[in-house]
Amino acid sequence: MTTDEAKEIIRQKKTTFGKRLVILGHHYQSDKVVEFCDYIGDSLELARKASAIADAEVIVFCGVYFMAETASILASDKAVYIPDAKAGCPLADMAEPKDVENAWGIITDITRSITPITYVNSSVEMKAFCGRNSGVVCTSGNAARVFEWAFKRTDKIIFFPDKNLGRNTAVSMGIPEDMIAQWDPSRKGGGLDEEAIAKAKVILWNGWCPVHWPGLDPSDVGMVRKKYPGIKVIVHPEADPKTVELSDAKGSTAQILNYVRSLPKGTGVAIGTEFNMVDRVRADFSRALNVIPLKKVFCDDMARITVEKIALTLSDLDKAHRVKVPDKIATDAKIALEAMLEIS
Ligand code: SF4
Repeated sequence: MTTDEAKEIIRQKKTTFGKRLVILGHHYQSDKVVEFCDYIGDSLELARKASAIADAEVIVFCGVYFMAETASILASDKAVYIPDAKAGCPLADMAEPKDVENAWGIITDITRSITPITYVNSSVEMKAFCGRNSGVVCTSGNAARVFEWAFKRTDKIIFFPDKNLGRNTAVSMGIPEDMIAQWDPSRKGGGLDEEAIAKAKVILWNGWCPVHWPGLDPSDVGMVRKKYPGIKVIVHPEADPKTVELSDAKGSTAQILNYVRSLPKGTGVAIGTEFNMVDRVRADFSRALNVIPLKKVFCDDMARITVEKIALTLSDLDKAHRVKVPDKIATDAKIALEAMLEIS
């Protein structure tokens, strides 16, 4: 199938389905895919949209698997399909449920005043774990609000799986470095002794997004500032804390867009996140701003979604990959997801 044939199939299917079909897409999707999405957003926006769509019966999710799982839990009356079931997320795979249960057992023997929080970029089992243990989900856009909510309930939090988002959020809330500990699942007892666990306000899981870390290096900020004096720099909070510290701002994809919109005409801005999004922002704001990537970084998993695969999905839903989460896991995960939606 050629790209043009795929596009024609999608157009025809959208007409046939009408309001019964909604195509959701993450900001990191390519322009070709975005052209056919009814809604584009970050994880939080898409989670909200999935739960609020009234008319749709079929959702095609153009993003990675954990996002489609989240949509299927929040929109359980709809059939959610992903055009490529192999579109995973290496970060989401870094918190293994058995390792998490082991850490939880050790830590809660020391203190019960702790809330588990998982980044939405995690497996559905992690979300269910948080739901079962009075915890919550967060996104990069609402992490600080969710942390604040948790600190009103307990003395400590444990945050999975992105160490950089966790540290950047904790630091921005004024939590001192010596009260931030990191649990390494490959080491006995996470590499932490009882005293370190007792002292920590925030315990981070040792996971990371390979697109943002270590790819977006602190030296990239220095280089871009040297080359373009006066340039603004905004990076995604999955980047290294030092890179964030050297930048003018940090934010989720939606917050990056808001930041760019707020800049005066003629400003130069370097954006540190996935290139598909940066390139689209560059094109959209080309008359007002000079937008450049801090560095060109790509998410290979997001790139698995193509117009050809969307066309195949819509051509035969019986053969397409429908995302299904077992009932018990979905029920527990929904508790943690809905807690997040209530906070944000
Ligand atoms: S950009 Fe990073 S966190 Fe997002 S889907 Fe890709 S690997 Fe996962």
